[in-house]
Amino acid sequence: MLISSATQNCSLSSPWHYCLQKIHDKIGAHSFETWFRATDLLIDGTGTAQVQVPNRFFADFIEEHFADLIRETLQNAEIEFAALAFIPVQKDWKVIEPISEEIAEARTKEVPVVVEKKRGQFHPNYRYDTFVIGEGNRMAHAASLAVAEAPGKTSFNPLVIYGGTGLGKTHLLQAIGHYAQTEGTADHVIYMTSEEFTNQYINYVVHKKDSTSFYKKFRSVDLLLIDDIQFFSGKVGTQKEFFRIFNRLLLENKQIVLSSDRQPEKIPDMMDHIINRFMGGLITDIQPPNLETRMAILRKKAEIDGLALPEEVVQFIAGHITSNVRELEGSLIKLIASSSFTGRDITLEVAQELCGDAIARKEERISVKYLQEITAEAYGISPNQLTAHTRKRDVTLPRSVAMYLCKKWTKQSLRSIGLEFGGRDYSTVLHSFRKIGAELENNVELKEKIIMLEGLIESVP
Ligand code: ADP
Ligand code: MG
Repeated sequence: MLISSATQNCSLSSPWHYCLQKIHDKIGAHSFETWFRATDLLIDGTGTAQVQVPNRFFADFIEEHFADLIRETLQNAEIEFAALAFIPVQKDWKVIEPISEEIAEARTKEVPVVVEKKRGQFHPNYRYDTFVIGEGNRMAHAASLAVAEAPGKTSFNPLVIYGGTGLGKTHLLQAIGHYAQTEGTADHVIYMTSEEFTNQYINYVVHKKDSTSFYKKFRSVDLLLIDDIQFFSGKVGTQKEFFRIFNRLLLENKQIVLSSDRQPEKIPDMMDHIINRFMGGLITDIQPPNLETRMAILRKKAEIDGLALPEEVVQFIAGHITSNVRELEGSLIKLIASSSFTGRDITLEVAQELCGDAIARKEERISVKYLQEITAEAYGISPNQLTAHTRKRDVTLPRSVAMYLCKKWTKQSLRSIGLEFGGRDYSTVLHSFRKIGAELENNVELKEKIIMLEGLIESVP
C-alpha cells in the first residue's frame, strides 16, 4: 500500500496526507516545508511503515528528530503498522505539489523568489558542443550533462569533478551553467571560484559584520558551481560558512557542482563533515586524454577557428604534447599566430620548428634515469638494483622493462642506454627490448604494468 503525500494523483483525504496536516500543525510551516514536503508513506508486506525521503541525510535527520511524532500521528490516524523505517528513495520529488494553499502561501512568504539571471557570466567557448568526449572524461561529461539538464533532480548532488590541471574541469562547470541558463533548466545560476567565495565571505564579515547577509546571496540560487575547492584548504571560517550554505541548498534540492584539482579527501585541512557529505552525491575524475582524444580535440579547435590543419600536423602535435589540453591548445595558438604573421601554411615542418622547444623540454625530462626511477618504484625495488649486477628474477624483469621503456621513449642509442645500466652491452638492451615486446602480447600482468608506466610518461609536462 502506497500512501502518498502529495503526488499529483493523490486525494486530499489520503491517510498520509491527513498525518502530514497534523505534523504541520505541530511543528510549524518552516520545519514542515524543510523536512516533510518530500515524503511518502508505504506500508510494506511485513507491516513496516516506510517513510520515504529523498536521501540518507533526510532519513537520519527525520528519524532522530521526528520518529516519535510520526509514530504517534500514525497511531492517532489509526494506521496499523508493526515497525517504522526511514528509507531514502530516488524519485522526482520535485513533482510534489504543496499540500495546502496555506502552506503554499507560507512558503512564498518565507522564501521570496528572486530571479536573478546573470547572463554573460560564462565563457562563450566553454560549452558542451566544444567539449570533446574521450575515455578520460566520459563519466564526468555524462554526469555534468545530467545535472545541467535537471539541476537538483538527479542523485548527483553534489557533483564533484576532480582531476589535474588543464584537463577541462572549468570547461565542464561553465558548460553546465551555460546550458542551464540557455535551456532554462535553472533560473538563478552562480559560478564562482573558491577564492571568490572566500573573498566575498571575508568582505561580508569584515564590512557588514554579519554572515547571514552573505547567505542571502545564495538563498535563491538553483545551481551553484564552485571551481577549485582545493583553495578552501585550511580556511576554517570559510569552510564553515560554505558547509552551512551547502547544507541548506542540498536540503532545498538545489544543485551543487564542485571541482577540485585532487581527490577531495586528499585536500589538506578540509573539514571531514564536508568531505563526508560529498559521498552522498557523485565524485568523478577526469584523466589525461589519450592520443585519440588529443587528436580529436585539436581537430575540434581547428574547426572552431576555421583553420585547415593537415592530419600529419594533428598527429605530430597530439603525439608530442601529451600532458594536458591547455598545452595542446597553447601549441595550436602558437601555430595560428605564426601562420597569420608570416602568411605561411601550417605544415609539418612549421609545426616541428615552432613546437620544438616544448617537445625538447619534455624529451629532456624523460631521461634514462627518470625511466629507471619510475620502473623501480612500480616494482618496489630501488633504482640502484637496476644498474647492479644481480641476476635475481625480481630484479631482472624490472631491469628489462626499464630498458624496453628507454629504447622506446628516449632517443638514446642502445650503447648509451646499456652504459647507464651499469655498463651493459648494447646487445643486452636490444635483447630485453625484443623480449618484453614479445611477452607483452600474452602477459596481461606485464601489459598492465607497462600501460601504467606509459601513462606516467605521457603525463610528464
Ligand atoms: P582545468 O579547469 O581542469 O584546469 P580547463 O577547463 O581550464 O582545465 O581546460 C583547459 C583548456 O583546455 C580550456 O581551454 C578547455 O576549453 C580545454 N579543454 C579541456 N578539455 C577539453 C575537451 N575535452 N575538449 C575540448 N577542450 C578541452
Ligand atoms: Mg580550472
